[in-house]
Amino acid sequence: MTLTDNPPVATERWTHQWKELYEEVINTGLCTGCAACVISCPHDVIGYEHEEGKYKPFHLEEDLGLDNCGHGEKGCTSCTRACPRFRAWEPEADMHLFGRERKDEECMGSTGNF
Ligand code: SF4
Ligand code: SF4
Repeated sequence: MTLTDNPPVATERWTHQWKELYEEVINTGLCTGCAACVISCPHDVIGYEHEEGKYKPFHLEEDLGLDNCGHGEKGCTSCTRACPRFRAWEPEADMHLFGRERKDEECMGSTGNF
């Protein structure tokens, strides 16, 4: 067998950054205020409102407006990778760990029965 017999399946490149996080999670009310995005940001450009009832992340740099990020435009994706409310990451994790997506009755985790 040569390396070209079974080429790896091409997967979509993850390019989602603050722009998508802002539009899809923060602006829609899906954000739980967990602060994972704040902690994960390698450029320290996400601030956080600590007031009761807010607990909301916001962008500290205004160059591209508060709904976009210059570092994200250059390829940084840490915040969307860290956010537990951003899109459906569980099926991908299940496929990686168990080789299949979990069933509806496995809401507490995969049973491991295949
Ligand atoms: S795209 Fe990168 S630099 Fe910009 S807010 Fe997200 S983690 Fe921070
Ligand atoms: S990681 Fe997601 S849910 Fe948590 S504070 Fe950031 S945007 Fe909100």
